[in-house]
Amino acid sequence: MSSTIDDHPAGPASGPVVASTRDELRAARESLTSRDVAVVMTMGALHDGHAQLVRRARAEHDHVIVTIFLNPLQFGPKEDLSRYPRTFDADMAICTDAGVDIVFAPTPDVIYPDGDPGVRVSAGPLGTVLEGQSRPGHFDGMLTVVGKLLHLSAARTAYFGQKDAQQLLLIRRMVRDLDFLVDVVAVPTVREEDGLAMSSRNTYLTESDREVALCLSRALQAGADAAAYGPSAIRRAAREVLVEEPLALVDYLVLVHPTTLSDVPEWYRGEALLAVAARVGTTRLIDNTPVLVGPGGGRLDVFSPETTAASAPIR
Ligand code: AMP
Repeated sequence: MSSTIDDHPAGPASGPVVASTRDELRAARESLTSRDVAVVMTMGALHDGHAQLVRRARAEHDHVIVTIFLNPLQFGPKEDLSRYPRTFDADMAICTDAGVDIVFAPTPDVIYPDGDPGVRVSAGPLGTVLEGQSRPGHFDGMLTVVGKLLHLSAARTAYFGQKDAQQLLLIRRMVRDLDFLVDVVAVPTVREEDGLAMSSRNTYLTESDREVALCLSRALQAGADAAAYGPSAIRRAAREVLVEEPLALVDYLVLVHPTTLSDVPEWYRGEALLAVAARVGTTRLIDNTPVLVGPGGGRLDVFSPETTAASAPIR
């Protein structure tokens, strides 16, 4: 059941407690007055997309933990770990405004005290397609740290963005397949006024890159506008927008089933994921929208509970 922000305390007036070790996190958790704790996991460089996750968590639970951890395990050797923006003071200001109780900001040696962990979570076949095809090992690294942070935060509910649709699906699968005792909540993608999905990586874009990057959200909208006419109309409409922008180097544009990530056949009617990845300048961008395919169809914010039930925890 959702509740309004008035039902819950506003968070500590003095700002969040910052914990950077397991002991500090445990002490901070023990000082909370209720066990109704939600977690929002981030890699820092917070923007309004992250803030929206926190606001939802804040409105629906007594306490909110935000984790800020740039997880080396989910970056490939040629990826942007070293240049990823680090903006801790600004992140703290956002967490303070949003009424966060605890910020857990560990260093890699706290999370991985023995160095590279021998045991990892395997994302399985769903981790090898789309983003997983371009970023081998990414989802194993992501799930491994999400699993650890779920244990360490001991939160009952975790909020994730629809922006990272495949990540969200894999986290739901992990929670179900490995019996994690946590509810996963999806938050719709937060966009700039011109449609660009907010991302910490948008800071890499030059002014002209940023113009080029708009073709991703425009392609998704064109696809969603054709939803009533079926899968090939959706794919065609989205592709037509992308081919108009040769400076966006498209990695993939797909219309797939929300839980299997397989291409939907032409006869398919129901919810599907329209997803795109492209390189613009030096930056790899991803975006997606859930769509309802078929008569009366169109764009959705997030998938329905009926669709996500297939990857919900078994209680
Ligand atoms: P990141 O810091 O990029 O790992 O993102 C942390 C969380 O914020 C993930 O659950 C993301 O899906 C979510 N997130 C990032 N960007 C957005 C956005 N534009 N709208 C909604 N959620 C987002």
